[in-house]
Amino acid sequence: MHEMAIAESMLEIVEATARGNAAVRVSAIWLELGALSHVESHALTFCFDAVARGSLAEGARLEIVTLPGEAWCMPCGERVGLQRRGDPCPRCGSHQLEVVRGDEMRVKEIAIA
Ligand SMILES: [Zn+2]
Repeated sequence: MHEMAIAESMLEIVEATARGNAAVRVSAIWLELGALSHVESHALTFCFDAVARGSLAEGARLEIVTLPGEAWCMPCGERVGLQRRGDPCPRCGSHQLEVVRGDEMRVKEIAIA
């Protein structure tokens, strides 16, 4: 399950940020997740709860903000919106798509105490 590895690296970022701000506890984390990433948000929340146990982020609320996906469609010659990886172009139905946005993942903000 690769969400576990992602949760661990997320925790590292969160802990480093919290320590840099002399925080004793992290109460919430806002994570931006692209709609076309290979990360399943429920699995990630579950894994994060598990890896955060015993850390300053234990019990922190994880808010996942989904970013829309976008791809370049070769037949259309323009950018089109995509809901999910593997979906065809909504305009022409082609699969000749190159993802340009929506596969990123980033810790946007944390709430500390
Ligand atoms: Zn198209």
